[in-house]
Order: sequence, then structure tokens, then C-alpha cells
Amino acid sequence: MAANANIVIVGAGVVGLTTALVLSKHKNFSITVVSKHMPGDYDIEYASPWAGANYFPVGTPGSSLQRFEKATWPELDRLCREVPEAGIHYQNTFVYGRKKDAGTTTGQWFKELVKENAWFKDVVPNFRVLGKEELPAGCDTGTNFTSVCINTAVYLPYLLGQCVKQGVTFKRGILSHISEAPSYHSSGSVLITINCTGLLASKLGGVMDGTVYPGRGQIVVVRNEPGVMVTVSGTDDGDDEATYIMQRAVGGGTILGGCLQHGSWESQPDPNLAQRIMQRSVDLCPALAPKTGKVSDLSVIRHGVGLRPMRKAGPRVEKEKIDGKWVIHQYGHAGYGYQSSFGSAREAEKLVKEILGEILAKAKL
Ligand code: FAD
Repeated sequence: MAANANIVIVGAGVVGLTTALVLSKHKNFSITVVSKHMPGDYDIEYASPWAGANYFPVGTPGSSLQRFEKATWPELDRLCREVPEAGIHYQNTFVYGRKKDAGTTTGQWFKELVKENAWFKDVVPNFRVLGKEELPAGCDTGTNFTSVCINTAVYLPYLLGQCVKQGVTFKRGILSHISEAPSYHSSGSVLITINCTGLLASKLGGVMDGTVYPGRGQIVVVRNEPGVMVTVSGTDDGDDEATYIMQRAVGGGTILGGCLQHGSWESQPDPNLAQRIMQRSVDLCPALAPKTGKVSDLSVIRHGVGLRPMRKAGPRVEKEKIDGKWVIHQYGHAGYGYQSSFGSAREAEKLVKEILGEILAKAKL
């Protein structure tokens, strides 16, 4: 027998929204999402709108992240094929590695991504290793495969709309303690709270995860079209700077990045870094500036900064009783919240079922 359950999800980033959507397929669940920020907002405390976003797997083999990334691809693939209004499209993708980046901040981040025998070679279509003659100057390795790029300005509202269609309720609210979550459900009686607060899990009462910290990313969004999606493991401009270029679906512009600045909460774009990002982008992908090959050819839509919700041990997806009530934590998805979203949400779904199973078993005793 399926158990009825009132559930509150805290957070409406890609993690909270995907979890709400996955759980909403269970008709016996009554779900409310409460959040400080919602799709449509742009805020330094809200990572999801700032993401590229693409599918660049980085989980190490055997890790839960790898499992989540692997499990997420089929759904992104399906959305590309069957749901054009979700704002996701396929991209011909080139990933280049430089041996000298092996020990740098960005080199560590892209360690799995740049491997020529990457674990995801049988997950994404058309994976092949590039010949030496196909590599840009200064690069030692390269692969080409089909990936996706998500227009987050379209995709987040799409997820929200799908949840609403399935009967999920949305409310604005700021929690100072996780135990306040049940008060946002109309029934007042909630079995499970799901904590999808991203970076703010570091500041939320009852959670206060001291291993969560920001990984600052700066981007430039331009109107120019690159023709391919491309990244390089590092640059000569700094240990924590990399180059990535991706064109968002349905007129979303092209994202030029980037960097991974551990521990920085700085919300304002650094103009010098922006200049370096644009220069590296036109150098790597001259198709962006076909007239002169110069940065001045770029038509800038906006500059942006987002803070990736980093967590030392990787994403936390686990259950815990806080003040006698079940909480499922689901935060710390760093630079991979989209590419791990469905796998992570299904893990949370498994934990919900486990908790309900335990409660039912106790009720039968
Ligand atoms: P968030 O989007 O930050 O959402 C957290 C939610 O919790 C918000 O709605 C917030 O309001 C709410 N909240 C927090 N505290 C409270 C509280 N106390 N009370 C009420 N509500 C609260 N990922 C990819 O997969 N691919 C990419 O290409 C990619 N590129 C990126 C590029 C950049 C520049 C950046 C910054 C990130 C990128 N990411 C990418 C990472 C991705 O954006 C994040 O992993 C993802 O957005 C995290 O989602 P989240 O829902 O956990 O957090």
C-alpha cells in the first residue's frame, strides 16, 4: 500500500525543482516548495540561473556524483529530443586538456572530463579521441562528443511549470531554521522536509554545514555564435581560470567562462577577469569574432557572477532526524547541479520511500 505523505522542499534551484518534479509523479504525495529565491530572480545567493549550463561529467568513478551524472544523461537526452520548450539542445563538443594543468584548481576540477578514456564515453553519443593534428596549440589531449547546453532562463521556469501542472504548491519564505519548514505546508503536518538550500546550507539553523563554501564563477554572455561547445582544462592566466564556451538553446546567447575561485563570496564581476575571459574565448574559437578576430567584435548581453555550492566531500544526499523530524539533505552540487540533477533527485526519492517504508512497518507493529 502506498503511504500518503506531506512533504516540504526548501529551495527552488535546479536541485529543489527537479526533486519536486520527480516526487510529484507520486499522486499520494502533497508537496510544497518554499524558497527565498524563485526562477526569474537573479541573486548572488541563487546559483542556478548563472550556470551555463552543460553536461560535462566530472565525478570520479565509484562516487555518488558519478552515479548521479550517469543517471541524469538519459533524461537530458529525452528533453532534447522530445521537449523543445524545455530550452535544451545538443551541442557538438570539444574538450581539450593540457598536461601542465594536472595539479591546478581547474585541472583538478576537470580531471575526469579531459580523460581520453573517460568513463562517460559510453554514456554520451559520438565520443571519439581527437588526433594530435586536431588539437589547438598548447593542448596535449582532446575528445569530441555530443553533449547538451541548457538555457537556464527557459529551463528553470519550465521545471516550475511542470511541477505546478502536477499539483506542487510554491511559496516564498526565508527559513532561519530547517525545523520551520513544516509550517509552510497547508496541512501543518509534514512527514519529511527536503533541504535543497545549496550554498546557504552553510548558514541554515539545524544544518550549518561548515564544509560548504562558495566556488565563484564569472561569465560573460554574448550574442555571438561559436558553432561548437568547447573547453580547455586551464590557462596561463591563473591557477583557477579556465576557458569554456557554450551556446544556450532558443536564443539564450553564448556563455563565455570562466573561473573556479574557492572561498570567494564576491558578487561583482571583475572587469580584468572579464577581459581575459573574452580574449581567451576569441583565441580558442575564432568563429565567435569572424570579422576581426578581436574582443571588440563580441556583442555583450551581460556580465555575471554565480557562486557554486561547493562541499568538501561532494554532494550530500542523505536522511537525518532533526528535532525528531525526518529531513533529507540534498545540497552541495558545486559546478554540477544540472548534470547530476535527475540522478540526485531519484536518490532523494529512494530515501523518501525508505522513510515511508519504516513508518508503515512501525505502524503495523
Ligand atoms: P541554488 O540554485 O543556489 O538554489 C538554492 C535555493 O535554496 C534557492 O532557491 C534559495 O533561495 C533557497 N534557499 C536557500 N536558503 C534558504 C532559506 N534559508 N530559506 C528559504 N530558501 C532558501 N552545473 C552544471 O551541471 N553544468 C554547468 O555547466 C554549470 N555551470 C555553472 C556555471 C557557473 C558560473 C555557476 C555559478 C554554476 C554552474 N553550475 C553548473 C552549477 C549549478 O549552477 C549548481 O550546482 C546548481 O545551480 C545548484 O543548485 P541548487 O538548487 O543546489 O542551489
